[in-house]
Amino acid sequence: MIHMNHILHKLILLLLDHLGINAIFRWINRNKSLLLCYHGICSDNFDLLRNYDERQISESIFRKQLRFLTQKGYFFVTLTEFLKFRMQQNHPRKMVVLTFDDGFRNIVERAYPIMLDYGAKGIFSIVSDLIGTPQILWTDHIETVLRNEKSGYFDFNFRGKTISYPLHTTKSLHTAMWDIKRKLRTLTNEERISHLKQFNDMIQNIPVEFKLADWDQICSLDKNILEIGCHTATHANCTTLVKENHIKYELLYSKRKIENKIGYKVNHFCYPAGSFDDNVVSKIKEFGYKSATTCLCGFNTSNTDAFLLKRVTSHEDILLWKAQVSGSFYCISDILTLVKKRIRFCISVLFDKERNTDNEMVNVSPS
Ligand SMILES: [Zn+2]
Repeated sequence: MIHMNHILHKLILLLLDHLGINAIFRWINRNKSLLLCYHGICSDNFDLLRNYDERQISESIFRKQLRFLTQKGYFFVTLTEFLKFRMQQNHPRKMVVLTFDDGFRNIVERAYPIMLDYGAKGIFSIVSDLIGTPQILWTDHIETVLRNEKSGYFDFNFRGKTISYPLHTTKSLHTAMWDIKRKLRTLTNEERISHLKQFNDMIQNIPVEFKLADWDQICSLDKNILEIGCHTATHANCTTLVKENHIKYELLYSKRKIENKIGYKVNHFCYPAGSFDDNVVSKIKEFGYKSATTCLCGFNTSNTDAFLLKRVTSHEDILLWKAQVSGSFYCISDILTLVKKRIRFCISVLFDKERNTDNEMVNVSPS
């Protein structure tokens, strides 16, 4: 069944592209703007995350995507330019901003040169306390520790209880990594930091693609091509910050630290893990940011709230990516969801009818 769904999925994406439906949607959405969400752009040989997630996209796919956007007449802008242009009545059509989260070194070393080749622009949202240190993101840290574990299991202490995760197969390894990260995201920031201490001394063999940029690399970027944004001080989940001094440290002092290093104002924030609430949004405004990017899917218009900017996640699957970039994917998904709901409803009505008829027969037969 899963295999059939996969084939059907592929077939729909192929038809969307080859029948010109994506092209029609690109035209329909030509006045909307696209913020593409990336994390790392890795070497073509880096396959550690294959079949796990797509935080890292290979540089050849990234080049293909930029070539496609150029050929289809997209207009590359920085986030600052986007905010300025979108309020103008005759703003450029098909504006696109490349957004890179987390501060991976490979964005400077691999993505930036490719961006220069295509005149692409964007924003690089960095984690201020990790830049220029040997540390990596806490999520990548956990994954690296688990991948290096040779005993075949991992004991994780969560809220005083020890959970033993088997790591014998790829599936069980992936389950363990997802589950530990998910559990840690439910904690307050202080609790998460305290839980992470159990992983501190265990790190070794850090994959090069997980390494973060240093300040010299950050300062070498042209702000008119790839400007710098803030992604907190420690990649804290903003909705788990309780104390006022912690909120200030993650949202405001991180901004100031980056500004002191790069020599210009940081106007844009990116919510780690896309996590925000009303309080976080009001703090972001209070601390002087001009915009914030979320993980909400979709396009942006002049009416979109600048502090809740939507993005389209980038994939290695180029057909899926093309459908998402055009907007056809969201429309077809909505239609399919509606059709599935109708079918389920019809089936349930039919079954109910049958059941009622059976009941009637049962009731009738004894008399
Ligand atoms: Zn992030």
